[in-house]
Amino acid sequence: METIGKILITEDEIADAVARMGREISADYDGKELLLVGILKGAFLTMADLARQITVPVEFDFMAVSSYGDATKSSGVVRILKDLDQEISNRHVVIVEDIVDTGLTLHYLLENLRVRQPASIEIAALLVKEGIQQIPIDVKYRGFDIPPDFVVGYGLDYTGLFRNLPYVSVLDPDNLPV
Ligand code: 5GP
Repeated sequence: METIGKILITEDEIADAVARMGREISADYDGKELLLVGILKGAFLTMADLARQITVPVEFDFMAVSSYGDATKSSGVVRILKDLDQEISNRHVVIVEDIVDTGLTLHYLLENLRVRQPASIEIAALLVKEGIQQIPIDVKYRGFDIPPDFVVGYGLDYTGLFRNLPYVSVLDPDNLPV
């Protein structure tokens, strides 16, 4: 298959980082049960791969959110398209995200979920863009700090495409593939 964009993180590098994150989470929640909350759609691959690296008992839930804005910029206005199926009060929750950009989506989600009084809540994100968080977000489990470019692959899309790429690549805004 033709490579899309310029590869920033290879499939092997992703696997190594996800395995490390899984080890960190397994150690921190030793003796506890965990609820992983995946943020659709982008986190579906991180969620699937990370979950298989976690050795403590895990349940799964998903939220779908949309952030209003154009294709490559987030606006910070978040709409919940699908809420959790289960209560999270007194549960240990880890939110699984694909990428933290401005941080506005996670800030909104954290506020929304904290009201439901989980026993604890932390964030696992595969990618964190450096230096552009508008709101400081404590991402406890993180794969990679990356430059503030628009990336696709491993769950991340451009106009709905490229989520299935096994690597993360940077799209050149002047030479978009579709
Ligand atoms: P926020 O700016 O609120 O931190 O990011 C919100 C959402 O915007 C992310 O969950 C992700 O879906 C999307 N997003 C942010 N940066 C990128 C990027 O570089 N590529 C893609 N495909 N989506 C992104």
